[in-house]
Amino acid sequence: MKGKRFQWITILLTVCIMLLWTFIVPLEAEASSFPEFIKIGLKYGSTGPSDCTLSSKSGFVLGTITEEGFKETLPLPAYSTVVASIENGHVALHDQQGVLLSANIGVNGCLAAADYKENGLITYENADYRGGMLLLVNSSNKLSIINYLKTEEYLYGVIHREMSQSFPIEALKAQAVAARSFVMESYGRHTADGFDVCSSTHCQVYGGYNAEYPSTCQAVNETKGLLVWSKGEPAPVFYHKNSGGHTQSIGEVWSFPMNHLTGKVDPYSPNYPWSATIYFNTLEQKLTRAGYLTGSIQSVKIGGRNSAGAVSKLIIEGNKDTVNLEKEKIRSVLGTSLVRSRHFNIGTEYLGRDGMSSLIADFQLSNGRLKKDVGEKVYVLSAGDKLKEVNSAELHITNGNKTIKAKTTETPSDTPDSVVATGDKVIFTGVGSGHGVGMSQDGAIEMAKQGFTFDQILHFYYTDIEVR
Ligand SMILES: [Zn+2]
Repeated sequence: MKGKRFQWITILLTVCIMLLWTFIVPLEAEASSFPEFIKIGLKYGSTGPSDCTLSSKSGFVLGTITEEGFKETLPLPAYSTVVASIENGHVALHDQQGVLLSANIGVNGCLAAADYKENGLITYENADYRGGMLLLVNSSNKLSIINYLKTEEYLYGVIHREMSQSFPIEALKAQAVAARSFVMESYGRHTADGFDVCSSTHCQVYGGYNAEYPSTCQAVNETKGLLVWSKGEPAPVFYHKNSGGHTQSIGEVWSFPMNHLTGKVDPYSPNYPWSATIYFNTLEQKLTRAGYLTGSIQSVKIGGRNSAGAVSKLIIEGNKDTVNLEKEKIRSVLGTSLVRSRHFNIGTEYLGRDGMSSLIADFQLSNGRLKKDVGEKVYVLSAGDKLKEVNSAELHITNGNKTIKAKTTETPSDTPDSVVATGDKVIFTGVGSGHGVGMSQDGAIEMAKQGFTFDQILHFYYTDIEVR
């Protein structure tokens, strides 16, 4: 009898635990979910202004930002222009004639258009913004001007600045999901400044209402709330302009490897050639600015390549010291707009198109006389005449005791990595643009043109993910 009761208690406890589990899990998922509102720093730090003029066709309403959102405190519908300035360490508000409206709008004081509930706009420095303007006195005793609005509406003003509104809708939708997921990565970067993200390339470029287009709003609306998830969590997402034929693993670009940010062969990024010439005296200045005291430059050579075929180490020899620049440090020291990607060769002269084609190791089939380039897919015919589709990057060749990858991403032996640039300059010849991690925007555009959906585009560029 006692044993039976014990059994029942055990069953009851198990059911209770299971019930609790079902309740706890969604709550946890909720906790890591996407923020409904976002604060974007338009002006902050020592570059913030001492005063600012805001206007709104419908007049204003003053309020406070709380955990729950915007709370109205003082309606000001009669004023279509107000001037905020710092007085006695507080943000004070005057009308255009200098009449005081509020001596202190409060620590989280925020101005919204009187018709903000009907998407009324605020104008600041000839640009229109949705939501409200949070005004703070910062540590440099300047004003921080922060746009506070719904995160989905923030995305309306981001997409076109990251990918032109004229591109196919499925590419714009992939960009919308990536931009939304990137908020998860960049959210909180500026907590110390009193906001969540800035409006420049440091976070994501944001242009407010004037950067909105029907196509970009459609892309955001049709992917509302969708994020990239990896291993049951919303995943940090990166994107770049053009992969140059092979995306990069994040561990080979910055620091920690992440499963969903693994490099892969990218047949969709169109050819994006570039070249750059850096004279040794300029190079020395760049290195000095970065804290390397090499003395006058003697030579530059490639010290290694990563699994994507990109340069992982650049060796610069000076008459005082030799510097090894590794990973993205190469681009950040030499200039990211100059050295567009790390898929490059170097030389003392321009290598031309042939110099670039050897950057991405190709897989070719040959009968000994003719050669043919193999694309992403190869078809293997079995004994029973069954065709099997294989990704050419995954194809292996065996002689029975040794197996090797057919398509190697190792540097082909004819790549002139042994070239040492000496004299007075180094010439870079490369393909691709950006850090190469995650989605290639040019590749996404090409995939959309070929009929792929945003979901397929994201699944191609991010490994083992869910979009939900
Ligand atoms: Zn930022």
